[in-house]
Amino acid sequence: MKIPFLSSKSETATDPVCNMSVDTGNPSGGVATHEGEVYYFCGPGCRVAFEKDPVAYISGEKSVEM
Ligand SMILES: [Zn+2]
Repeated sequence: MKIPFLSSKSETATDPVCNMSVDTGNPSGGVATHEGEVYYFCGPGCRVAFEKDPVAYISGEKSVEM
C-alpha cells in the first residue's frame, strides 16, 4: 500500500485563496482541512485568510489577487 504523503512524486494543488499552484509535497503556507478536503497554500497569509472564511474561498465568492 502506498502512502500518498510520502510519495516522492511532485504534485500540485491550487491554492483556493489566490489560485496559485502549490507543491503538495512541500506547501509553503501549510495545509488546512475543511469538510474532509485538504487544501494547500502558497503562504501563511493565504491559509489564515482561508481559515477565517473557508466557504467563501471554496465557492469562489472571495479571492485574492497576488
Ligand atoms: Zn496563496
